[in-house]
Amino acid sequence: MSVEIPKSLIDWLNKLAKPTSPEYAEYSGKYNCQECGIPVTRARFWYNESKDMTWKCSEGHLSKVSLRKPSKAEVKARYVGEK
Ligand SMILES: [Zn+2]
Repeated sequence: MSVEIPKSLIDWLNKLAKPTSPEYAEYSGKYNCQECGIPVTRARFWYNESKDMTWKCSEGHLSKVSLRKPSKAEVKARYVGEK
């Protein structure tokens, strides 16, 4: 499943960002583990090419949402497997 996040929200998140590292910024909030649903209060936004938002629950599951717009080829590849 993919989640589209509007640019205005990303800009807003960037303003709230706490520059903890040149590689990622940490955000406070409420994120639910994609694996077990445990609420997590911190997420990292990675500045590198992946533009991923990741958070880890107390069970050690890593949840991930990509904020990068997928290329046409990637979108095509994604739907091929779902048919
Ligand atoms: Zn979990």
